[in-house]
Amino acid sequence: MASIPTGEFTTHSAEETFELAYRIGEAIADASVFLLEGDLGAGKTVFAKGLGAGLEIDPADVNSPTFTIINQHDGRMRMYHLDLYRIEGGLNDVRELGLEEMLEDPSGVVVIEWPERLGAYALTGAYLINIVDLGMDERTIKIHHKKHKSSHKNHKST
Ligand code: ADP
Ligand code: MG
Repeated sequence: MASIPTGEFTTHSAEETFELAYRIGEAIADASVFLLEGDLGAGKTVFAKGLGAGLEIDPADVNSPTFTIINQHDGRMRMYHLDLYRIEGGLNDVRELGLEEMLEDPSGVVVIEWPERLGAYALTGAYLINIVDLGMDERTIKIHHKKHKSSHKNHKST
């Protein structure tokens, strides 16, 4: 995969968060998973819009899929955007979402808001994006790659 920036960033507007996510979206070359953590209003959907734009998806089409839970967008790759906020049944609901199939899609980019709802569901190799609202328009965005525990496929990834 091309270089996806990791580390800690501070943004001062929704546009800056969008730009950061856009650069990540542009760098995505393989099937991947992004877990977006942060309170309501932190900027998870703004981030998802930027990521989508970097995948040549119209950001106007990327919205919090609260009621449908999953939205699918076809761009340079296929983005599955999930918002698990309303998932209450835990793992059983998660299984019914068809997450397994999304993870197996060779051109799938799975973007999950409220990944905490997955519980212990194992998602190794995902990028963890943690957004903290510092007040006003300032946000801290931490991007961390959760490495595969043992992998023959990605043993060279850092
Ligand atoms: P979430 O999906 O995390 O609930 P949204 O992305 O829907 O949050 O909303 C974030 C809100 O915060 C938007 O209204 C956006 O304009 C505003 N905002 C202000 N500053 C920022 C920033 N630096 N990054 C992201 N969003 C910001
Ligand atoms: Mg949202």
